[in-house]
Amino acid sequence: MKSINKILSNKASPIIISGPCSAESEEQLLQTAMALKALNKVDVLRAGIWKPRTKPGSFEGVGLEALKWLQKAKEATGLKTAIEVANTQHVEEALKYDVDVLWIGARTTVNPFVVQEIADALHGTDATVLIKNPINPDLQLWEGAIERFAKVGISKIGAIHRGFSKYGDSYYRNPPQWQIPIELMQHYPDLTMICDPSHICGKRDNLLAVAQKAMDLDFDGLMIEAHLDPDNALSDALQQITPQTLNKFVNQLVVRKTKLSPTLTTELDKIRRSINVLDGELLDVLSKRMELINELAQYKKENNIQILQPKRWEEILLKALEEAKEKGLSERFIRNLFTEIHIESIKLQSKIMNEEN
Ligand code: PEP
Ligand code: MN
Repeated sequence: MKSINKILSNKASPIIISGPCSAESEEQLLQTAMALKALNKVDVLRAGIWKPRTKPGSFEGVGLEALKWLQKAKEATGLKTAIEVANTQHVEEALKYDVDVLWIGARTTVNPFVVQEIADALHGTDATVLIKNPINPDLQLWEGAIERFAKVGISKIGAIHRGFSKYGDSYYRNPPQWQIPIELMQHYPDLTMICDPSHICGKRDNLLAVAQKAMDLDFDGLMIEAHLDPDNALSDALQQITPQTLNKFVNQLVVRKTKLSPTLTTELDKIRRSINVLDGELLDVLSKRMELINELAQYKKENNIQILQPKRWEEILLKALEEAKEKGLSERFIRNLFTEIHIESIKLQSKIMNEEN
């Protein structure tokens, strides 16, 4: 398996992939490409050519013809190009038309058969492949798709976090569930990570906040849909922004990429050492608390007292929340923390009290 290294950029600023959700006409694509190029911030022009739609009847993309437009846009602007490929025929056409980056859509990543076919079709090429997370929150499936490409010898691999499907109402079109891409980064520290705030948000509100969060979590770049006339876009109209808005967004992003100097490292280490001491103390306290729970359980068992005493639990929580408020700790945090501690102590008590003598 080839190793996975950072791709697409080694500059300090984030990689920006932008362009319309779908290529709609030659004029639209060329003009969008020029407007994006003029911002001097965009690295790759994206455009959907074949669109995976939830239900039939909506705009399914222009298809093959749009690849010629994309090639023209590439010649006119010098921008790299990116499209979604969902089967081997798409791959063949993309390679024929010199597309620089192929991305695997969320609905394709879920299917290991198709992912393997696409990977096999790319065997022996120098393709750059970005793999979107599967629509369901399954880290293993996402990693599996990445590994299938690495296994056929593709080394220019990255991942796109576009959020995960949900049932029912939610603020997000696809809630981000940040812990999943964070775990992916921990497993593959050199994997290029792109965040797609457009498909996470599904609307224009909050795009910037999601993009900023991605920067704070050390993502390498962003894929943001841009359209000259977003309200009249043929797909994903609610979430697209104009190139001008994209410019404003990118200017507003705070990217903290300061390289650690010896002085900064010494200062950080000082604070981190104190934190480590406190973490040790926290663990000591928790361990002592569990010893007491052990004692308590023995006593309850001998005296035939019930494990859960709701009144007592209510008292503990109220007292903790009151103290937390005085100490400036968030209510949600302390409630969650104490609930976890309580669950663990009930588990331990049940184990002890239900054990055979
Ligand atoms: C897209 O990028 O336009 C798209 C269809 O994305 P996803 O696969 O994330 O739904
Ligand atoms: Mn889209």
